[in-house]
Amino acid sequence: MVNPSADRTVAQPVERRKVLVIEDERDIRELVRVHLGAEGFQVLEAADGELGLALVKRERPAAVVLDLMLPGLGGLEVCRRIRSSEATSRVPVVILTARSAEADKVVGLEIGADDYVTKPFSPRELTARVKAVMRRAYGQQPDAPQETYQRGKLRIDFDTYEVYVSGERVELSLREFELLRFFVQHPNRVYERGQLLELVWGPDTFVEPRTIDVHIRRLRRRIEHDDSAPELIVTVRGVGYMFDERRLGP
Ligand code: CA
Repeated sequence: MVNPSADRTVAQPVERRKVLVIEDERDIRELVRVHLGAEGFQVLEAADGELGLALVKRERPAAVVLDLMLPGLGGLEVCRRIRSSEATSRVPVVILTARSAEADKVVGLEIGADDYVTKPFSPRELTARVKAVMRRAYGQQPDAPQETYQRGKLRIDFDTYEVYVSGERVELSLREFELLRFFVQHPNRVYERGQLLELVWGPDTFVEPRTIDVHIRRLRRRIEHDDSAPELIVTVRGVGYMFDERRLGP
């Protein structure tokens, strides 16, 4: 067995097809949704900065389109907070700014926005910019969707939230499903309980690390051949848990 502690870097899991648009003008959100939607992205919408920040943390979008002129918490402050939270600091941000607001543009880039588009913008240009920042952040296939996972006896449909083990449908709670999704997307590396909490439950959740153990136990009951001797979700003593994808075979 490969030394499981060799690679314990936590990659930021993002939903590759999700893009969040934070913009108070509904028409513009709609425009973004229609055009990015046509490219296969799921577009989440927030009409103000507070909600936007909450969605960045909870939904883990692969990119954020951020208007600067927002009521309440302004776009620059939203951008600053996205960058300053460890959980969201690496999500690409494309800011929308009025053509006249040259200073905002400069400040936006200084505080970590990846690109900007000036209003009024061409949706095609915005789409191209969003895809470009995602390519820079994640590599060559920003919009290659992973709709199903199939390996050995395990099949997961990410669109319908269905899980099959040896062809039999198993029922999982939403949280169990999310935990399983996280594991199959980050196989063969060990995560501490605290990391799993942060990455699956979200950074602002206040639950005890013991909660993880409860969910792991339930998940094992559903997907392991013998949950008293788990092979897929293994306990790495003194460290945490690892999804051992190799046990599913090639
Ligand atoms: Ca606005």
